[in-house]
This record gives sequence, structure tokens and C-alpha cells, in this order.
Amino acid sequence: MQKLTGKSYQVDRRPMNFGEKLYLPILKGMGITLKHMFQKKVTTQFPEERRPFSPVFRGLHVLNRDEEGRERCTACGLCALACPAEAITMEAAERLEGEEHLYREEKYAAKYEINMLRCIFCGLCEEACPKDAIYLSETYPPTAFARQKFIYKKEDLLIPNPITEKEAYEKALGKDMETTAGALNKRKS
Ligand code: SF4
Ligand code: SF4
Repeated sequence: MQKLTGKSYQVDRRPMNFGEKLYLPILKGMGITLKHMFQKKVTTQFPEERRPFSPVFRGLHVLNRDEEGRERCTACGLCALACPAEAITMEAAERLEGEEHLYREEKYAAKYEINMLRCIFCGLCEEACPKDAIYLSETYPPTAFARQKFIYKKEDLLIPNPITEKEAYEKALGKDMETTAGALNKRKS
């Protein structure tokens, strides 16, 4: 029969010799196991142990606030447009009188969602944003069993207020995944 690929080979059906009948080749495999037992362990005991990330690591998204605690996002949609995975959706709303302390611009994102199952953490949304409103932190979305848990809503992504929640804000800057706004909210839900 003509071979379709060069990967097929003839099965060796010779009767086993004396050494093969004693299963001696297994000693080779056991030797490899023994050798590895005395080598330095490469497994990271997560979550007790954390592997240091690369300085250019791109993790979970954070929606930024300005120094006065106002939301920076103006719902321009550039991040969604730049996203190759079409993971970002949003709905814009107009800032009302008296809401100047909440939203920096006249328009803001009333709804902002990122589907982390689609996201490839490329960072293009961060690069596209003209308002420094979104950045990828040094954390990552915690594991979950339900797909719905990976749809991060605005309240999951928005960084705590640097004035009223100073401590949470410092932690959510991305140095500790346990305290990131998104991670915390997802655990509570
Ligand atoms: S990191 Fe890349 S894939 Fe993920 S939301 Fe941003 S642009 Fe889309
Ligand atoms: S995060 Fe930035 S790019 Fe995306 S809608 Fe908000 S302001 Fe525009």
C-alpha cells in the first residue's frame, strides 16, 4: 500500500529475546526517574510560591482613575477597535451636572466588559487608549469553573479610588493578585 506520509513504520513482530522477556529495558526508564529525583525541583508550589514575572508581563486589565479619583475612560471605543480578539464591549453615557467628581470627561463608560476567554493579553487596548484609562497589570484572572466568571465587568476592572480607598488602590496597582479589584470581586461573587 502506498504511504500517505513518511511517518508510518512497520511494526516489529519478532519474538522477544531473553533480555526483553526480563523487561530489562525498564531499568533505563527507572534510571531516568532516579536521576530526576535528585535534581533541583522545577515545579512551583503555587499559590504558596509565586514565580517572578517578566518585567514586560501583561496580565489582568485595570481601568484607571486620575489623581482625583475620577474615572479616566471616556468610552471612545478605541480599545475595542484595536482589540484583535473582539473581547471588549462598552456602552457610553453622558456625564450629568454634578458628576464631575466621578468622571473626568463629558462622556464615560456606563458599561465596560472584557471577555477574558477571548483576550490574548496582547496589550493593544492599552496602547490604543488616548486617556491612559486602561492598562494591563502584573496579575492574572483567577481560575474558575463557569465561563461567566471570565466576563469581567466594569466593577471588576475599575481600580479602587486612590483617595477614599488608598490602601486597596496601592495593592491593586498590580503587585498582588489576591487584592486586585477584579480578583476580589470575582471571589465575592
Ligand atoms: S489585551 Fe489584546 S486581546 Fe486582550 S482585550 Fe486588550 S487588545 Fe483585546
Ligand atoms: S479605555 Fe481608553 S480607549 Fe478604551 S474606551 Fe476608555 S478611553 Fe477609550
